[in-house]
Amino acid sequence: MDTQENPQVYDVVVVGGGAAGLNAALVLARARRRVAVVDAGAPRNAPAAHMHGFLSRDGMAPAQLLATGRTEVAGYGGELITGRVEAIEHGFFVRLAEGRVLRARRVLVATGCRDDLPEEIAGVRERWGKDLLHCPYCHGYEVRDQPIGVLGTGPSAVEHALLVEQWSSDVIMFSHTLTLTAEDRERLTARKVQIVEGQVTRLVAASDGDRLRGVELADGQVVPRAAVFLRPHNVPHDDLLIALGCQRDSNGWVDTDASGRTSVFGVWAAGNVINPRAQVITAAGQGSAAAIAINHDLIDEDVERAVEASRTLATIGRNTVRSEFSAELEAQVTQVVLGDRRHGL
Ligand SMILES: Cc1cc2nc3c(=O)[nH]c(=O)nc-3n(C[C@H](O)[C@H](O)[C@H](O)COP(=O)(O)OP(=O)(O)OC[C@H]3O[C@@H](n4cnc5c(N)ncnc54)[C@H](O)[C@@H]3O)c2cc1C
Repeated sequence: MDTQENPQVYDVVVVGGGAAGLNAALVLARARRRVAVVDAGAPRNAPAAHMHGFLSRDGMAPAQLLATGRTEVAGYGGELITGRVEAIEHGFFVRLAEGRVLRARRVLVATGCRDDLPEEIAGVRERWGKDLLHCPYCHGYEVRDQPIGVLGTGPSAVEHALLVEQWSSDVIMFSHTLTLTAEDRERLTARKVQIVEGQVTRLVAASDGDRLRGVELADGQVVPRAAVFLRPHNVPHDDLLIALGCQRDSNGWVDTDASGRTSVFGVWAAGNVINPRAQVITAAGQGSAAAIAINHDLIDEDVERAVEASRTLATIGRNTVRSEFSAELEAQVTQVVLGDRRHGL
């Protein structure tokens, strides 16, 4: 087992083995980097039976995509570790909940985000990812032309209803906790989106439990609907990044450049942890971009170190041209050639 005294040194430790993390690991392993992926095994789209909108993978089970990805990463020598990372210390020391510590030259955090659902409505957990949906690009086609509801859980629900209308002409906006303005009503009505006032209390499943039957209101009325959309509140799993000192943008999400580089040296982020709107293919693409940037960053460091080493060796060579090769000299040479990496030997 690794210890702080003698940790293994990875080029990169990737935290999170969803689409973003696994695609990054695939690119890094193919770049002949020593890479480990630590994954807690709870990807965001786990409740959905099928994944859509990913060219060549449309309709695949989310778990199958990740299983295929893990096999590919392992095939190039990437290490897959099941577990939860509790902390990352500068340097980098990646601490797993079970006590193991991994040493890395760079870290990529791809830990995804959480969808906060309106738990005051009974049945939201059971129906989530089945017929309680958030993304029409992911699942709108599957419920096209069916009776659809949109829950008024926040101001963006009106835009959501107007978006969902692209997939069905039978859309009801349930005002729920949202107070609709005159302008909202005008826009919804112009697009033939019906408005049902009142608090929603329950999503009612059909007797077989397999599908949604309708939306129950506080007065007991059940409005038949085949699917319901909502915009959940997204919360990034960014504790590790914030603890490292990564800066946030004006929306409160960790700020990165286009490659996923954060404000902290050696720390990258990709996927839903920095962008809740990233689809699976986008998250995978961000992982790939981050991996390429990290590899370039490591090459820059290796080149700098090699130049420094060759200059130092030349100096040592000049100074010891007539002396014996000593243990002290060997230690000096090891330090300039291997630097921190000697700890892993
Ligand atoms: C119900 C639903 C259905 C969806 N359907 C689609 C669809 O059809 N098509 C589509 O393109 N998109 C879909 N999405 C969006 C999709 O889920 C995301 O695009 C995708 O999951 C983002 O990938 P990611 O790698 O960033 O994060 P995730 O897939 O969430 O992976 C993050 C991983 O990091 C792990 N992790 C978190 N913290 C730690 C830690 N501290 N230590 C170790 N591991 C950790 C998690 O356990 C998880 O395995 C859907 C989303 C939802 C909610």
